[in-house]
Parts: sequence; structure tokens; C-alpha cells
Amino acid sequence: MPELPEVETTRLGLVPHLVGRKVRGAVVRNAALRWPVPADLSRRLRGEEVRGIRRRGKYLLIDLRRGHLLVHLGMSGRLSVVAGDSPAKKHDHVDVQLEGNQSLRLTDPRRFGAVLWLPEPAEGHALLAGLGLEPLEPAFTGKALRDRAKGRRVAVKQFLMNGRIVVGVGNIYASEALWRAKVHPLRSVARISLAAWTKLAAAVQETLEHALSKGGSTLRDFAAVDGRAGRYQKRFSVYGREGKPCPRCGTKIRALRQGQRSTFFCPKCQR
Ligand SMILES: [Zn+2]
Repeated sequence: MPELPEVETTRLGLVPHLVGRKVRGAVVRNAALRWPVPADLSRRLRGEEVRGIRRRGKYLLIDLRRGHLLVHLGMSGRLSVVAGDSPAKKHDHVDVQLEGNQSLRLTDPRRFGAVLWLPEPAEGHALLAGLGLEPLEPAFTGKALRDRAKGRRVAVKQFLMNGRIVVGVGNIYASEALWRAKVHPLRSVARISLAAWTKLAAAVQETLEHALSKGGSTLRDFAAVDGRAGRYQKRFSVYGREGKPCPRCGTKIRALRQGQRSTFFCPKCQR
């Protein structure tokens, strides 16, 4: 599943191909994504121009003059820039046609992705209005996390993965960040000091930025023949490494079930 660093890598890869370009329309081959692709998408896009591409959580917002195109990659989605006459394969559901005979193509085998038209202001849309803190922005601090934890008793890992608190921190990066900050995933947010929150905020940012830096090297291949955006080398400290040695202390990594998900941690480093 594309996580925040992959979505951000996709955004960075798309900017030079899309921003400033005119849009000719859209081809919707299969509108049955997570939510129906609007039937009038092509009409709305015709004559538009891409002003910028932003990211909010795992949503990409392609800013146009009269509104915004919201794209979510769901479980298996991928965006690529292809030649406009490139034949569509089975899972190529939506093309946004650009001037100069190119298209932005959404490929999504599992169809949990989304392509929606958002009128102004995009921030007011139901999908975006309740989103939590952006972890890669300067406002993401220990204090901001502590303020949102006030009056709660939930386990810290669940807290980090709650999109109304923090956006885009999924199971993998929550596990990795907690290991980095030396905080046990089951610890209650009521029992975390400001100093520990500050460490944890930094750890979340470092974990995501590390993943982003891994994706950066694939950017130049963004519009390569198969259009595949960078897939990271999945090299983690604790995630998926049950029974293997902790990179910091050598203790065997343990796994436990937490809210239907596997959590990985070092029983010595994370208390
Ligand atoms: Zn350890």
C-alpha cells in the first residue's frame, strides 16, 4: 500500500511533468473506484491548467483554475505520465489528457483509489476537513502531539496511526518511529512526557524523511517506459523482523497483535 513517503515521492515526480500544463480532458475507462469517478470529469477538466500539486495526508491535490482534482492511490494505485496514444492495459482506469500528447494515468488493480473533482475551497471537503497534523511540516512538534493526547488513554501506536491526529503514519512507519524514539507501542499516551513526545515527533519525521530519501533516487525514472513510480527498498529496523536482532542492541525483535495489526518492537530498547 502506498504510504505517505511514496505519495510524496509521486507528488515530487509529477510536479515537473504537470505544473503549468494545459489539460485537454479525461478518459474514464472504469468509474467504479472507491467512490465513483464523476461522469462529467472530462468536461470539467477541458481547458484547465495545472497550477500546482499539493499533498494532504495521502491525498494528492492537483490545483486547477476552477477547482481541484483529488487523487488517492488506495491500496494499489500508481500514477504515471505516458504518451497520450499509449494503449491502456486492464487496470489503467483513468487518463487525464495533457497538451503535448501526454496523459497522467491512474493504474489501480484493486480499485480502492479515488479520482474526484473538488470545488473551492478544497480544504472544506469532507475527506480533508478532519485530517490531523502533517508530520513533515514544522508545526509537527512534541507539544502539538501532547496537546492532542490530553484526556486520552489510548496506546501510543494507535494514537499515531489515527488519521484525525496525524496523517499518513501507517503501521510500518509507526512501528519504525516508536523504535527510533525508544517508546513501547503499548504505552498509554497519558504516560508520555513532553520530552518523550518531542523525541517521538522527531522520530516520525526522521523515519518518513529517510523513506523519502530512498525514493528520491528513482525520481528521474518517473516517466520511464513502464511509468512505475519509485518503489522503496523495504529495509526496516523492526517492521517485519520478528526474531531478528535489533539493529541497536541485538535483542530479538518481538511481534504482538494490536488493533488487528502486527506491531514489531525491541523489548529491551522500548519499555
Ligand atoms: Zn534494541
